Amino acid sequence: MNRLNSEIKYLKGVGEFKAKLLAKLDIYTMADLLDFFPRTYINRKVNIPISQFNVGDNVSFTGKITSINNNNSFSGKKQLIVQISDKSGFINCKWFRFGKWLVDELQVGQNIWVGGTINEFAGRFEIIHPQIELLDKEKQDKFWEKRSILPVYNLTASLTTQGMRKLILNLFRDYHQDIEETLPEFILKKKGFEPRYIALQRIHFPTDLEKVEESKKRFVFEELFYQQLMLSRVYYSNKVIQKGHKFQLYKTFTSQLKKELPFEMTNAQKKVLKEIIKDMTKAEQMRRLIQGDVGSGKTIVVLFAMLIAVENGFQAAIVAPTEILAEQHLKSISSFLKNQTSIKVELIKGGNYKGKKKVKERIATGEINIIIGTHALFQKDIFFKKLGLVVIDEQHRFGVKQRSVLSKKNNYPDLLYLSATPIPRSLSMTVFGDLDISRIDELPPSRKPVTTIWKGSSKKNLVYEEIRAELKKGRQVYVVCPLVEESEKLDLLDATSIYNKLKDEVFREFRCALLHGRMKPAEKDEIMLDFKNHKYDILVSTTVIEVGIDVANATIMMIEHAERFGLSQLHQLRGRVGRGSEASFCYLISYPPISKEGRERLSMMNRTNDGFLIAEKDLELRGPGEFFGTIQSGMPSYRHANILRDQDVLEEARELAIEIIKEDYDLKLEKHKSLHNNYFPRYFEREKLFKF
Ligand code: ADP
Ligand code: MG
Repeated sequence: MNRLNSEIKYLKGVGEFKAKLLAKLDIYTMADLLDFFPRTYINRKVNIPISQFNVGDNVSFTGKITSINNNNSFSGKKQLIVQISDKSGFINCKWFRFGKWLVDELQVGQNIWVGGTINEFAGRFEIIHPQIELLDKEKQDKFWEKRSILPVYNLTASLTTQGMRKLILNLFRDYHQDIEETLPEFILKKKGFEPRYIALQRIHFPTDLEKVEESKKRFVFEELFYQQLMLSRVYYSNKVIQKGHKFQLYKTFTSQLKKELPFEMTNAQKKVLKEIIKDMTKAEQMRRLIQGDVGSGKTIVVLFAMLIAVENGFQAAIVAPTEILAEQHLKSISSFLKNQTSIKVELIKGGNYKGKKKVKERIATGEINIIIGTHALFQKDIFFKKLGLVVIDEQHRFGVKQRSVLSKKNNYPDLLYLSATPIPRSLSMTVFGDLDISRIDELPPSRKPVTTIWKGSSKKNLVYEEIRAELKKGRQVYVVCPLVEESEKLDLLDATSIYNKLKDEVFREFRCALLHGRMKPAEKDEIMLDFKNHKYDILVSTTVIEVGIDVANATIMMIEHAERFGLSQLHQLRGRVGRGSEASFCYLISYPPISKEGRERLSMMNRTNDGFLIAEKDLELRGPGEFFGTIQSGMPSYRHANILRDQDVLEEARELAIEIIKEDYDLKLEKHKSLHNNYFPRYFEREKLFKF
């Protein structure tokens, strides 16, 4: 075993206690520390004189502390003001939040490095909460004392930059022989990368800051490449090594469905169905994700796939995250199949109820061909006679483990995942890199685009009148309220008070209901169902309204505090109206102050109804982590790569990875030796999470 894989506590200068602190930075092994790159660098050679600073400049400079003031400000708040001077002038650094340790450490006369942004206050320049580092010799290791470029790290409590520098130095001194090349020669050549050892040295102990950026590229590539290597292996083993069902196209049931279809399928639907058929008629297991906006018509595409399985003597199952969505599927599927009485469709729900045992028996005997269910389908006591296809609706609502249950137990049926959340391609390639992806990127022509209108809160009364006019025509309305500061309790209050106001003042003549996340699932389902059946005219809710819910008569949505929602979320909410043949409206009500980004979001909503465009923009505005956090868990985190910035690298890494795995699945070839040595210790366990 490579010694770099041993625990970090064994490194000189670490020990049990420091190891715990390092763990907070995701550093567990020697290799992890090697991979922990400086956030920035102090360049002692470059020094812009203080007199040349301008407001808004991002500066880093060295100077001397000439005064320290730790008194309360006029308003009685604690503040720390440290004056730093060089030959050309002085500038104040200010802290409003600071620990005692900072006050203890700073002394007049010390040399200090400062990094931050220049602000102006009362006619003077200052830097609020700067990055600092004391540069005095006794604090520095001998090694660093002589160097002009010093690394600066992102650290957590109790770890100091100087301490970190020492550890990295110890690591290189004691373990440099263990640093191995992780990319094959032909990739280094092709990409013009430096050998790993040299690149690491340039990053940790730079002499030339321009070279650092060059050297970092290698690690961005490497990180994405190894991940793609893993996804490619998973894909390949699931698809090719693992045998799946090879279905025939008998066209007994499918052709009748086609004949009886009350509409023409869109080109996007036809294209995706073709992709599915291609998968299903191969002896490989289909593992395909279908992305398509709410209302793009995923159900009918999936129904064709299910009928192919049924024609071949297999059963097909569709799993929905809630009973109400399962019921909706039952209703629409039954109506599409109303003349094909030989196909038996049945719903199975959670809990105990009359008739459930009988349904389970009929699933086991194979009498039921299409089974629609909730989580109940994952239970141990459900046995299928011969399951050929599983469809998972709203796939992000289920865990990987749950999804895999049906697969293993039933001899690897074909799998289709559905998602109403359009995701930019670069994200799909990483998060769903082990799946094939289809996109239904077109709405049926019968669907009128939702007219989106953004209004300031002062115009709310006008919006109320628009709503009243629609209500008088017999239509229904959604009023959506935001989460207030992520707090369930405030959120509840907010929705409740709006509900009370609408019910008691604004719309007294109409029937209002309230829906929020604190309610029990059964209670929520009941309210949703009652709304669907038009027992209410107005539904006031938080964001918990089901994405897939289909209430054709609801033609207006009003979103309160629209400036607080993410772009993808606004778009998803909007998708709940415009499902019938009537024109629909979405009012975005914003309250000041609105940030620049908030404005961009709202105007984007005004501009387009295209979910994929909106997703790209959302990703751009928020960055991958946050974008993903709100729609799906399990976004991989990267040390070096940023999939927004590095999309091209990602594409290239993926292509190369697929090529390599196709040629040499086990990485046995001599030219792949470095890949083999590095891949299996680090990724083999992770692979298993994806295989089912
Ligand atoms: P989703 O993708 O949100 O699951 P659905 O499958 O529920 O969408 O379809 C939404 C509605 O559009 C359904 O009433 C469905 O019958 C109808 N629909 C689907 N495809 C078409 C089409 N090509 N033309 C007209 N209506 C369609
Ligand atoms: Mg749906």
